[in-house]
Amino acid sequence: MMSQKLFLLVFYAVILSLANNSYIYSDQKVTTSKTGISSQQNQANTKFNPSKNVLLIGVETLRADHVSYLGYLRNTTPTLDKLARKGVAFSRAMAASSWTLPAVTSVFTSLYPGVHKTTRTQRRVPENITTITEILKENGYSTAAFVSNPTLDGSCGLSKRFRLYDDFSVRLDTSLNLFENNPLDSQGNYNSMTSEPVNRSAISWLKKNHQKPFFMFVFYYDPHYDYVPPAPFDTTFDPDYKGQIDGSGIIREPRKSTRPAQRDLDHIIALYDGEILYTDGYIAELLEKFKEFGILDDTLVVIFGDHGDEFYERGSTGHGHSLYKELIHIPLILSWPTAMPKNKQIDAIVSQVDIMPTILDYLGIEYDGFMQGGSLRPLIESQKEKLHDTVYAEVSFYNNNHFAAAISKDNKFIFDLNTGDKQLFDLNEDPNEQVNLYKERSANLMPLEADLMQWRTNNNKFANQFGGNEDSNKVELDETRLRELKALGYLQ
Ligand SMILES: [Zn+2]
Repeated sequence: MMSQKLFLLVFYAVILSLANNSYIYSDQKVTTSKTGISSQQNQANTKFNPSKNVLLIGVETLRADHVSYLGYLRNTTPTLDKLARKGVAFSRAMAASSWTLPAVTSVFTSLYPGVHKTTRTQRRVPENITTITEILKENGYSTAAFVSNPTLDGSCGLSKRFRLYDDFSVRLDTSLNLFENNPLDSQGNYNSMTSEPVNRSAISWLKKNHQKPFFMFVFYYDPHYDYVPPAPFDTTFDPDYKGQIDGSGIIREPRKSTRPAQRDLDHIIALYDGEILYTDGYIAELLEKFKEFGILDDTLVVIFGDHGDEFYERGSTGHGHSLYKELIHIPLILSWPTAMPKNKQIDAIVSQVDIMPTILDYLGIEYDGFMQGGSLRPLIESQKEKLHDTVYAEVSFYNNNHFAAAISKDNKFIFDLNTGDKQLFDLNEDPNEQVNLYKERSANLMPLEADLMQWRTNNNKFANQFGGNEDSNKVELDETRLRELKALGYLQ
């Protein structure tokens, strides 16, 4: 006779096996409510077949002014250029923050950092905030993520509802000695390249899972400092350099705040561009696999930069310390040959928070939860010329800095919440945000400042509804992760 214990074991095994095979596809779609509770309804209004795939690619530290299809003079992004020709490229997309964790969390939640509160290291997305992964999973998509940036470790909460959240393949790759041994030397260098093991794992998953609808998130890390691309990418863009400077140690003093000679700085930027080209090649490899499996045209591909990087424009390096354009102006491309126009550039101002509502819209998934972004589809289909009057960004990270910014078509307002300092830029006359016009023009531009203050008040209200705050979301990380974050300069 089966003992009670054995019965329970068998019972749980059956439940688990059902859960793991929850891929039963029907002609009904599931909508997900604010609370994540699902209800079924007819699919009559669904324009696109939801049995399509979504490939969401994040590229670390990718500045919009360093991609060729937006006019950069170097050929850094042949694959992205091709994808932009196949689909839609946004020329004025803004990151919601200027470092990885808050920015990527905004992509996954359509909430600004002031609401999701995942704004510092060792923080996780509050449990009751719904991510796009949850909604897609509820709607029958298999979910898998392949990430390499330690700040996107599964402990940050973005792993929620991913059936596979691979934040480990880069560490298992002993041939590269990634993270563990080689790059985190006593000087805080961070030299390894990670795209290869990320692709290996993603492609291996794809081989076994491409026949069923899926949501795949791939995050490429390599354009992040240090700028040490492998050959031949170390000489591609500056083969004649004879100086002594390389792309390592870029966030250490005195180098961080001492601007090198222009020739040396040019070389550092050429190395950064080499890393972009290197990464672009791995995006090509992944897309080629989609083509081989015959699913590329059935896949909604979205590629975004998580934020930019500074090359002494304000006297420093790295990111997370301001909200100027070099840190928040990012590339954004969408491609889906069966549903979107080809070779279209859209200049309307948009934000990372628009990515989630756009994906849901194109998949025909209704979601009535709170999102701060909007679908880009009316822009893509030329039904509207603009989606937002204003988009926003916020960062509170290094040394308790705290900045918030409002960006309109013509102007940008940055507020330093610690000092009360206010800056205003005329983006038409001064696209590089060099001349602060706040004192002379504030009377004319009060609406933008008022917008930002109202936005912050609303964010606080929404954040309270979700019940998250920076203290309650704290997570304990193990020694290795802490060491990595320190080496990256993300922890003191
Ligand atoms: Zn990043």
